[in-house]
Amino acid sequence: MEALKRIIEELNQEAAQIQIQGRGLSPGEVRRVRVIHEALPRLREALVLLSGETSVNLVTYKIVSDMAGKLKRGARTACNFWNRFVEPSSSIVIRLGTFTSKGNTIARAYYPYEEAGVVYGRVEFNTKYLENYTDNDIAGTLVHEIGHTLGFGWDDWRELFHTDTGKFDAEAVEALPALEEMVVETDGGPGTRLSHWDEYTFDKELMTGYKDLREHVLPVTVDIMRLLGHRVIETLPVKTDLNILLDAVSQIAFARHGEARALDVDYFRETAIWENIPHDQPLQAAAT
Ligand SMILES: [Zn+2]
Repeated sequence: MEALKRIIEELNQEAAQIQIQGRGLSPGEVRRVRVIHEALPRLREALVLLSGETSVNLVTYKIVSDMAGKLKRGARTACNFWNRFVEPSSSIVIRLGTFTSKGNTIARAYYPYEEAGVVYGRVEFNTKYLENYTDNDIAGTLVHEIGHTLGFGWDDWRELFHTDTGKFDAEAVEALPALEEMVVETDGGPGTRLSHWDEYTFDKELMTGYKDLREHVLPVTVDIMRLLGHRVIETLPVKTDLNILLDAVSQIAFARHGEARALDVDYFRETAIWENIPHDQPLQAAAT
């Protein structure tokens, strides 16, 4: 088991070193980072199996309606993504469905609700976009939405920073020094403002309020989950391309059906819309 831990550590460091150089990567380097990220979740799974330390809570999904299995594939990848990094303080069920609108709303998310210790998040995708979106576009959108369900925008998060400046307070920075550099979005509509990293400063990061084509994930997006009450299982050593992270877990079968079956994935309560994607449009547009 020690040998396995060492291999994981070494691969992590190697991937970090390749990416940390601050220049564009050669195709060979990109391939190497991809291979490492594909290997890491599997090696960790082996480690968990050997150590017997299994997580109790997980992120899982329920499909209400779909288009050629696209949402299901996206949901599996998005759940695998978060289950790789975080054990949530309560299990999360993402309830997924479709709607059809000629407008430019790609997807809409509703206020989460809680029942019997399980948190439910509801996301609906516009079939107009679902049709042409790649698997990673869909999974990336869902990873962002699950990020909200895990706490981006909710009470514990809002206690960490000053709402006028978006800067994190001393206590938060002491608990997680990387927050010194971070700023929360203070512009935009109600679903965007105070619920994301600042768009101007962090542009293509996963948890900024505007969807971009080639996004990345900063280590702090995973690390802050600890301050939001969750257990961080794996940290991200450096800023990493979101596509690489999604590809790494997209081929892994959802391994935790047994635990997911113990949850009431069907529980449903009607709640109001929380955000539209893209975030920069008024909420009423979702009804068109
Ligand atoms: Zn958002």
